[in-house]
Amino acid sequence: MKNIFIILTIIIFNSCDNDGNDINEKAKATGVWPVSGTIMTDRLAAPFGPRRLNTIYDFHRGIDIKAPLGTPVHSILDGIVVRSESALPGSSLERFGNFVVISHEGINEPELSQTIYLHLNEILVEVGEKVKMGQIIGEIGKSGVNINTEHLHFEYHIGSNNGEIKSENSRHPLRLLPYEKSIPDVTYNKVDNNFIIDIIQKHHSIDLAEVSILAEGMDKIIINFETKLGLNPEYLDSNTFNGVTILPMNFNETDQHFHLQIIVERNWNSIENIQMELLDVNGDKTIF
Ligand SMILES: [Zn+2]
Repeated sequence: MKNIFIILTIIIFNSCDNDGNDINEKAKATGVWPVSGTIMTDRLAAPFGPRRLNTIYDFHRGIDIKAPLGTPVHSILDGIVVRSESALPGSSLERFGNFVVISHEGINEPELSQTIYLHLNEILVEVGEKVKMGQIIGEIGKSGVNINTEHLHFEYHIGSNNGEIKSENSRHPLRLLPYEKSIPDVTYNKVDNNFIIDIIQKHHSIDLAEVSILAEGMDKIIINFETKLGLNPEYLDSNTFNGVTILPMNFNETDQHFHLQIIVERNWNSIENIQMELLDVNGDKTIF
């Protein structure tokens, strides 16, 4: 068997170098968690990016936090409410239910940005209202078409702060939230034409932004979950593109572990020196 099972020494770089990725230049604003309103990490019910939703692949534009009906929802940073509304069934936003969008321009961010809070039971703020970090803006609910459990779906967007919602603007919410970093467990395994990477992120630290593979004689393969580079630009909810297949396992809510498998199909036969780089939302790089 040609199975090669490798776990290499981990080298961590700090992110000041510039390898063309703009994640590093982004703000380091840190807010409070939207459900607890604290710097203690809220427990996730679904991570950002690739996920398995009832056996179906889906690119999740935000994070989900479960809580009982009526639990307060907090603005994570100072801002101004730019949308506060109930999406009507049959409209393009029908799954949002009662939702709030808060602009953070010029407050804690150097660029246009906004945060989005979906499925609220009650909305407690109005458009134009200034809100403070931690201020209660609504209550947990399950409003929205086909939303079956009480939870907050929370998104962070860049590029626009007027309430306009474009899914390509969504970025990893952990860029704005406090959490304890941990290095994921990574293994990789070459089997004929498949390079199989298993990544386990754990302990609330589900902060993976980019996976890249470098091998001699081959173009660098980049899969970026924030800028969506390397994903299908026509259809974000497809898990296969350009010989790369993304297979998220079911998210384990109990231990907060998230196992993501990536399979890259290329002619690997003659290639031996393969290096992988993982980039987190803070721009910290780990080489495996
Ligand atoms: Zn969600």
